[in-house]
Amino acid sequence: MWNGLDKLLELQKLDQAIARLEAEGRAIPQEIQTLESRLSEARAGLNEAKAKADQIQKERRAKERGLDEATTNIKKKQARLFEIKTNEEYSAVLREIEMLKEKYSKLEEEILELLERGDVAAKTVADAEKGFKEAEALCQKERAEKEAQLARLRQEMANLQEARKGQASRLDTDLLRQYTRLRKSRGVAVVVVKDGSCSGCGIALTPQTYTEVRRNDTMFTCSSCNRILYFAG
Ligand SMILES: [Zn+2]
Repeated sequence: MWNGLDKLLELQKLDQAIARLEAEGRAIPQEIQTLESRLSEARAGLNEAKAKADQIQKERRAKERGLDEATTNIKKKQARLFEIKTNEEYSAVLREIEMLKEKYSKLEEEILELLERGDVAAKTVADAEKGFKEAEALCQKERAEKEAQLARLRQEMANLQEARKGQASRLDTDLLRQYTRLRKSRGVAVVVVKDGSCSGCGIALTPQTYTEVRRNDTMFTCSSCNRILYFAG
């Protein structure tokens, strides 16, 4: 095996592990965000249900006040009946009382309906409250888990970075420079030769090169993508 290949492969392994951890670490804040937006939705649902229940209650109270007014007015007009002198006026007040009674019955019906709607709304609020509490507990639990996971990742990453530093220092400077450049431009710098082709870009090697790469005793780079080639057993 040519001098440096095993060290180079080990370095690449570390870099790939670091990249994986970085990707994992990047995903976590996003996952926490998703948890929180789910919680906000539950909160919005609860607020909406509460607002609706309040609205129904407000409407009911207004109608109850209307009912009280109608009762008072009916009583007033009934008292007036005794003071009326003419038949015409008497009939007119009777009609007014009739109308007030109709209004009273209508309000009564509406209040009953609002009471029923209020019950349904209260049930919706209770359900939404339960849903919100569940979402809140779940969010807290999952958030704590994700944060712990992130802390573990960071620790693991620090260890890998340390190992990477050590490994990089074991490499010949020129080789390290070449590797770093390739890693930047190609992502993966060192690739296996598979079925006679560079597994980085897919180009077929000449039989001559293939035979030589198979020996792994000199460093070869791909004529097309410049990646460092090697033969894996
Ligand atoms: Zn290639």
